[in-house]
Amino acid sequence: MDKIIGIDIGGTKIAIGRADINGNLEDSVRFPTNVSRGYKVIVREIIEKTAKLINGHSIKAIGIGCGGPLDSKRGRILSPPNLPGWDNVPLVEDIRSVFNVPVYLENDANAAALGEFHFGAGKEVSNMVYMTLSTGIGGGIILNNRLIHGVRDSGGEVGHQTILPDGPLCNCGNRGCLEALSSGTGIAKIFREKLASGRKSIVTEWVKDPEEISAKVIADAAKMGDPLAIEVWDSAIYYLGIGIANIVTIVSPEMVVLGGSLIKYGETLFVRIREIVKERARLVPTEEIKIVPARLGDDVGVLGAVAVGLLGDER
Ligand SMILES: [Zn+2]
Repeated sequence: MDKIIGIDIGGTKIAIGRADINGNLEDSVRFPTNVSRGYKVIVREIIEKTAKLINGHSIKAIGIGCGGPLDSKRGRILSPPNLPGWDNVPLVEDIRSVFNVPVYLENDANAAALGEFHFGAGKEVSNMVYMTLSTGIGGGIILNNRLIHGVRDSGGEVGHQTILPDGPLCNCGNRGCLEALSSGTGIAKIFREKLASGRKSIVTEWVKDPEEISAKVIADAAKMGDPLAIEVWDSAIYYLGIGIANIVTIVSPEMVVLGGSLIKYGETLFVRIREIVKERARLVPTEEIKIVPARLGDDVGVLGAVAVGLLGDER
């Protein structure tokens, strides 16, 4: 039976897997990106590792998930901040010309959304929003079984909706984005600023260098009753709930799937988010909208890329 190759390219690591059409991962490999090597050397390693995974199997297609900005139709990567030197490079053509099978490209958050939609939590629905909550907040929106690409693949950036007009500066240049308020990096930054202004926390006894304070440490301190950690963590979840309520109000999806490392830290996170969505998204029958954890875990990147390859132009 025909297999699909999924290639997940990130700024720190690359994962490649071979799966069947049901998303069962048969074999996979991970290696560091080492971005300083440059585009050509990295692509050569991707091609070598892919050839090893193909190894006589009949391949139907190759799907690639990569950090944006990119042009999915032309198959080009357009200078992503985490892949320096990948300036308008023809990634799809460079891989297609070697293996001679259809190759499809999608930004990594959209690919992950397709992975959860096709193989994970969203298997039974046609309308789904996926959000990944980790160092940043990314996502993808699927309506009537199709991903919303938007103009120049810029649709579905759920983490960059404005929540607080004069809030903290975001990496995108705007102020008060959801990502600046509720991502792992955003939470840690807000916490550090409160410490710098003289607030006390048990966290300073655990971590000496403020730069090493992470969202996980803050979540742990909140569980132990540390007032500052509770305050910062609760407001991050509150803003996240408002962001999700905004999306639910506009899209009214059957399901919202939340993935990423942050969802592991607070058991009460889903309960609280459902409360806020119910309170804020008044015109939507929120009791019919499922808000659930992602299912694919660490394989979401590779299986997302597999879904991109499997669905091809039908995504
Ligand atoms: Zn932003």
